Amino acid sequence: MQPSLVRLTAGETPAPHPARIPYRRALAWKPAWEEEDPPMPVFVTQRAYIRLCASAGSDLENEVGGWLAGKWCRDPQTDQQFIVIETAIPAQHVNNGAAYITFTPESMLALHDRLQEEDAQKRILGWYHTHPRMGIFFSMWDAWLHNNFFPEPWQVALVMEPHSKSGGFFIRQANGALDQRRYYGFYELLHRVKKRSVVHWSNLLPVQAPGSAEGEM
Ligand SMILES: [Zn+2]
Repeated sequence: MQPSLVRLTAGETPAPHPARIPYRRALAWKPAWEEEDPPMPVFVTQRAYIRLCASAGSDLENEVGGWLAGKWCRDPQTDQQFIVIETAIPAQHVNNGAAYITFTPESMLALHDRLQEEDAQKRILGWYHTHPRMGIFFSMWDAWLHNNFFPEPWQVALVMEPHSKSGGFFIRQANGALDQRRYYGFYELLHRVKKRSVVHWSNLLPVQAPGSAEGEM
């Protein structure tokens, strides 16, 4: 069955939300090899991160997954686009098994309607799923699903491995290409007052974000 995306975009104004890129409030988490920012930097609230980890740890034998929701933004000063993941929504209507996961068009449409009701700014920014005991990579099936259900340049995929407590984002290049073996880290949006990190993935290292003042962390 070919998933229909027509209704998902109908009536939406395809414009990013104007907002300053929040580097100053963020702590960057990167894999050892990552030097440059991805074309679409990913910011994750601590609340969303905790929900993602809880969902990933809810089944250590089978793949679990769901959606990433939040804001697609553009910095008016620099034109830089970025996304802010504010919510993780575990998928209810998935066919999951030990090595595959899928979404149904019905579940996508139901979620889209719900988000529109909650907050018109909130969008489906992509999806997440786990690879228990398999590591962080993008399979051919993952790539197929991503391109068919999440085709926008600002939509990303998060893969988590709950046993080693690791995770990484798959993000398209400016030309639309996606490297299936190379994942990116993300920016943790710190609490305004506490400023304490909650990230504990073993495969990512904390890096001072560009533009963040010394001692401000
Ligand atoms: Zn996968």
